[in-house]
Formats: sequence, structure tokens, C-alpha cells
Amino acid sequence: MRQHLLNETTAADYRRSVTEGVERVAAKLASTEKPHTGISVDELTPVIAGIDLDRPLADPAAVLDELEDVYLRDAVYFHHPRYLGHLNCPVVIPAVLGEAILSAVNSSLDTWDQSIGGTLIERRLIDWTAGRIGFGPSGDGVFTSGGSQSNFHALLLARDEACRIAMQNSDVPLPKGELLPKLRIFTSEVSHFSVKKSAAMLGLGYEAVIPVPVDADKRMNTAALALELENCRRDGLYPMAVVATAGTTDFGSIDPLPEIARLAAEHATWMHVDAAYGCGLLVSPTRRHLLDGIELADSVTVDYHKSFFQPVSSSAMLVRDRDTLQHATFYADYLNPRRMAEERIPNQVDKSIQTTRRFDALKLWMTLRTMGADGVGELFDQVVSLASEGYELLATDPRFEVVVRPQLSTLVYRYLPADRSAFTAEQIDEANLHARKALFASGEAVVAGTKVDGAQYLKFTLLNPQTTTADISAVLDLLASHAEQYLGESLVHAS
Ligand SMILES: *Cc1c(COP(=O)(O)O)cnc(C)c1O
Repeated sequence: MRQHLLNETTAADYRRSVTEGVERVAAKLASTEKPHTGISVDELTPVIAGIDLDRPLADPAAVLDELEDVYLRDAVYFHHPRYLGHLNCPVVIPAVLGEAILSAVNSSLDTWDQSIGGTLIERRLIDWTAGRIGFGPSGDGVFTSGGSQSNFHALLLARDEACRIAMQNSDVPLPKGELLPKLRIFTSEVSHFSVKKSAAMLGLGYEAVIPVPVDADKRMNTAALALELENCRRDGLYPMAVVATAGTTDFGSIDPLPEIARLAAEHATWMHVDAAYGCGLLVSPTRRHLLDGIELADSVTVDYHKSFFQPVSSSAMLVRDRDTLQHATFYADYLNPRRMAEERIPNQVDKSIQTTRRFDALKLWMTLRTMGADGVGELFDQVVSLASEGYELLATDPRFEVVVRPQLSTLVYRYLPADRSAFTAEQIDEANLHARKALFASGEAVVAGTKVDGAQYLKFTLLNPQTTTADISAVLDLLASHAEQYLGESLVHAS
């Protein structure tokens, strides 16, 4: 079995085996005609269940043959121009190369003595990102597994800062247990669900999150925020954090960051900007101004795996003041004793809520060293421009109703029959749901869905610069025909 260990004696096998795997994927990429095959859960489940895990195949080529049946054939391919579903981007080759290297070397970024250069590369990229945000020299942060973890981490820091400040400022300090139920988080009603989930995990409960209404463009209404903040104080509660979104998951809308920053400062409240999606603008050669005000945040979430064309996972949480990271610091004798901090040994675990941690930063490093930041930004700009064109298509197409003009690269719309009065609202919802499902089952394209004011909508998330307006038109035709067919059928059933 030792022949399977990657070491000085097995370099040739390593080269052969990985090359073989790369060849299979390359062949797959060259032959995918549709984003996926449309296989159903019921069809694939027995295939996987039928594999006897206690009887290994031993031969790597046989394992790859089997992988074709259990995974590669039916996977969803995000590089396909008609994959318009969730916030998954096609990935760039330098990052995939980085991924292959980082898993072979397998550094762990928790401590300096497990990563050496990996630690310094991650720190450079954190400083670089902090610089792009506009944080000063005390900016810092850490790579995370994704936007949800970044949001959680940021809110953990916000919670502990709020407790620290409340203790400091009150004549009769409240015990933490009494303070926690009084903390409130303000975020727009269309912000990411991980804000609520974080509140629950932080011991505050879902009710601690106050949803702030949005304007017609799905951006936080700051007059409503001001009112909510005042109500909070009036009721004897503590505003713990305001979470602004720079690129909402559904609409790509960017909250008015400077005004939110002003209100957060007025109420001495932590401001977090969730730029999981909008972070691509940090490198945009033409649209960076859309993020103006982000530099006023206390913390920022960025998902390089959303808009920097990086493979999952690649994300970071940045703070304006590195001292706040201490709320997540624990010195373990076996790993990162306090002595090491005094000796200035850079142990990233001091800042992270993970311990053993991937060297995801390498992917971004390889990307920036190969393509440059402008190169990544150009690609992101292309999908934002594509969304504007897609908006024009939808706005002038009588079969569809589109919700907002996009600031980033999503479009939320729904099919409406020509004779709307002939159908109930439920039938129209059902028709849209059916169109999405039927399209998915056909494998021809993948779109997402969401609800707007209780009604069923469809969604394009455009992150592939290879997608064209012709692709968008073709997918709209497919959706309309599925919806028409469904409503035709429901008319038949009704009569
Ligand atoms: C995707 C997304 C998240 C969650 O990020 P993950 O990487 O999926 O955990 C958080 N916030 C926003 C606005 C997002 O779009």
C-alpha cells in the first residue's frame, strides 16, 4: 500500500495518475454539449449506492472509468455558457494549477511551522485585498471557507466588540448573558440568509436580526435604517452591527454604503459589508466606484470563488482594525502558545476560527501573478455588461417581466402569459416553477429561481464571459415554451 503514498519514490506514479485525471477532465470539457445531462436523483442514487466501498478497484484507470459513471458524466458544468444558475463562476487555469499544487504539498495555514511561505503569501493577499478596499495600515484579515463563514466570523467580532464597549460604557456592567438578548443586527430584507444563521449560532437568535426595507432597486432604505436604529436605542436595546450588502445574491444590488457608514458611526455600531458577490468590483477597471464607502466598514466579506473566477473554496474576511481579530484568538500550548505571539511568529490560527486550513490563497496568487488584477476585473466587467444587455432583452420582451435594472450580473424575471387575466396568480407561479424544472431536466440550460413579494420568479446569474446575448435569448425561448406548454395544459385541465 505504500506505493500510494506521495513521496520521493512515487513521483512517477503521481505524474501519471494526475495527468490521467487531467486528461479525463480535459476530454470532458471538450465534449460537453449541455451544462449537464438532466439525470434525476432517482436515476443516480442506485448507481452510487451500488458501489461496494469495501472492494477497491486498485487500478487508478479503473477508478477513473467508474468515476465517469458516478460523477463526471452527470456533473453540472459551470464553464458551459448556458449554465446561468447560482453564483458559480467558470474557473481560470492558473487557479486550477494552484489547486493541484496546494493539495500535493498540503500545507496547513494554521501555524507558521506548517506552511512557511504559504503564511506569507496569504498575508500578502490579505494586505493586497485590504488595500483594494481602502483600509489603512491596520487592516488585516484571514482566508475562510466561504462567504457564510466570513459573515459569521465578522459578526462574532462585532458581537464581542459590542459587549466590550457596553461593559466599558455602562456604570453597572451587565453580565454578558443579559447583554446578548439585547443585541440587534440590522440588514436589508434581501441580504444573505447567513446573517440570520450567524445570529442564531452566536446565541442571539433569529429575532436579533431586524430586516430593513429596500427601495425599488432592492437597495437598503437608509431612512428606514435610521428609524430602526433610533427605535432600538429607545427600547433599551443595543445595535450590535449594521450589515450592508455589496451585491445581493438575488439582485446584485449594492446598498448605499457611505450613508450606511454615517449612520453606523452615529450609533457607534459595527459596520459589516457583505461583498461576497460584489468583490469583483475591487478589480474592475471601470466600475470600482460602485463600491465607494466600503473603506468605511469595520469588516468586509469577499468571495473570490464568486467573482474572481476561483475554484471553491476561496474567500476572506477583512477588518479595518486588526486588534478586533483578537476576539477569535486562543493560545493552545501544543499549537500556538502565547510565547509565539510575543516572538512575532505569524500563526494565522490566531486570527481564524478554523484550525487546520487549506492554502486557498495560492490559487489567487497564481491568478494575479499570471493574469494580473486588471485581467480578472476585465472578465468580471464583461459579465456585468452582459447583464445590462440581458436586461434590455427582457425589458423589451412581452413574454417576461424583469424586476430591476442590474448593478452587477444577475437578472430576476418571470414569464407572464399574454392573456394574464385568464390565469390565477398560483397558475403563473406554477408555470414559472415548471419552466425552471423542465429546463433543468432537459439539461439544455440551468437557471435559478427566487421569490419576489411572494411570487415565483426566475433568475439568471451571469458569471461566464463566454455567455452571449444569443445564449440568453435561446434560454428565454426555452423557458417561455415550457411555461406556455404548462399553461396550455392547465387550461385544458380546467375546461
Ligand atoms: C454567496 C453569498 C454568501 C455566502 O457565501 P458562501 O461562499 O456560499 O458561503 C454570502 N453573502 C452573499 C451576498 C452571497 O451572495
